[in-house]
Amino acid sequence: MGRMEKPACLNCGKPFTADARNARHQRYWTAAACKAASKWNSQAKWLAKPENQDYHRGPESVVRVKAWRVLLMYPLLLSVLELSTFDPSRKC
Ligand SMILES: [Zn+2]
Repeated sequence: MGRMEKPACLNCGKPFTADARNARHQRYWTAAACKAASKWNSQAKWLAKPENQDYHRGPESVVRVKAWRVLLMYPLLLSVLELSTFDPSRKC
Protein backbone atom coordinates (compact mmCIF):
# COMPACT_ATOMS: atom_id res chain seq x y z
CA MET A 1 0.00 0.00 0.00
CA GLY A 2 1.11 3.44 -0.60
CA ARG A 3 1.42 7.02 0.21
CA MET A 4 -0.62 8.58 2.93
CA GLU A 5 -0.72 12.11 1.60
CA LYS A 6 -3.63 12.97 -0.63
CA PRO A 7 -3.11 14.98 -3.79
CA ALA A 8 -4.59 18.46 -3.80
CA CYS A 9 -6.99 19.34 -6.57
CA LEU A 10 -5.44 21.66 -9.16
CA ASN A 11 -8.70 23.59 -9.39
CA CYS A 12 -9.89 24.14 -5.80
CA GLY A 13 -6.85 22.99 -3.82
CA LYS A 14 -8.82 20.52 -1.72
CA PRO A 15 -7.09 17.24 -0.93
CA PHE A 16 -8.96 14.41 -2.55
CA THR A 17 -8.86 10.63 -2.71
CA ALA A 18 -8.01 9.69 -6.23
CA ASP A 19 -9.77 6.85 -7.95
CA ALA A 20 -7.61 3.75 -7.35
CA ARG A 21 -7.58 2.90 -11.06
CA ASN A 22 -6.59 6.42 -11.94
CA ALA A 23 -4.49 7.58 -8.99
CA ARG A 24 -1.24 7.93 -10.95
CA HIS A 25 -2.44 10.78 -13.10
CA GLN A 26 -5.55 12.17 -11.48
CA ARG A 27 -4.97 15.84 -10.72
CA TYR A 28 -8.51 17.05 -10.11
CA TRP A 29 -11.24 16.24 -7.68
CA THR A 30 -14.34 14.61 -9.16
CA ALA A 31 -16.64 17.54 -8.29
CA ALA A 32 -18.40 18.85 -11.39
CA ALA A 33 -16.63 22.22 -11.28
CA CYS A 34 -13.23 20.58 -10.92
CA LYS A 35 -13.98 18.13 -13.73
CA ALA A 36 -14.97 21.05 -15.92
CA ALA A 37 -11.74 22.85 -15.01
CA SER A 38 -9.79 19.72 -15.85
CA LYS A 39 -11.50 19.41 -19.22
CA TRP A 40 -11.02 23.07 -19.99
CA ASN A 41 -7.39 22.89 -19.00
CA SER A 42 -6.55 19.87 -21.12
CA GLN A 43 -8.47 21.36 -24.02
CA ALA A 44 -6.48 24.58 -23.72
CA LYS A 45 -3.23 22.61 -23.53
CA TRP A 46 -4.20 20.60 -26.58
CA LEU A 47 -5.16 23.70 -28.53
CA ALA A 48 -1.90 25.42 -27.61
CA LYS A 49 0.12 22.79 -29.45
CA PRO A 50 1.18 24.10 -32.84
CA GLU A 51 0.15 20.88 -34.62
CA ASN A 52 -3.41 21.31 -33.37
CA GLN A 53 -3.83 25.00 -34.16
CA ASP A 54 -5.43 24.38 -37.53
CA TYR A 55 -7.41 21.37 -36.42
CA HIS A 56 -10.79 23.09 -36.41
CA ARG A 57 -10.13 25.11 -39.52
CA GLY A 58 -10.40 24.19 -43.14
CA PRO A 59 -13.32 23.36 -45.42
CA GLU A 60 -14.19 19.99 -43.82
CA SER A 61 -14.69 21.64 -40.46
CA VAL A 62 -16.87 24.34 -41.95
CA VAL A 63 -19.13 21.73 -43.55
CA ARG A 64 -19.28 19.73 -40.33
CA VAL A 65 -20.15 22.75 -38.20
CA LYS A 66 -22.79 23.93 -40.64
CA ALA A 67 -24.43 20.49 -40.66
CA TRP A 68 -24.34 20.44 -36.89
CA ARG A 69 -25.99 23.86 -36.71
CA VAL A 70 -28.80 22.72 -39.00
CA LEU A 71 -29.39 19.69 -36.77
CA LEU A 72 -29.35 21.93 -33.74
CA MET A 73 -31.98 24.21 -35.28
CA TYR A 74 -34.13 21.37 -36.59
CA PRO A 75 -36.44 20.90 -33.57
CA LEU A 76 -36.97 24.65 -33.39
CA LEU A 77 -37.70 24.77 -37.10
CA LEU A 78 -40.24 21.97 -36.74
CA SER A 79 -42.04 23.69 -33.89
CA VAL A 80 -42.19 26.95 -35.85
CA LEU A 81 -43.63 25.12 -38.87
CA GLU A 82 -46.19 23.34 -36.71
CA LEU A 83 -47.26 26.59 -35.10
CA SER A 84 -47.63 28.32 -38.45
CA THR A 85 -49.91 25.56 -39.79
CA PHE A 86 -51.94 25.35 -36.59
CA ASP A 87 -55.45 26.66 -37.06
CA PRO A 88 -57.46 26.90 -33.82
CA SER A 89 -60.76 27.45 -35.64
CA ARG A 90 -60.43 24.19 -37.52
CA LYS A 91 -62.48 21.28 -36.21
CA CYS A 92 -61.07 17.81 -36.43
ZN1 LIG B 1 -11.21 20.77 -7.07
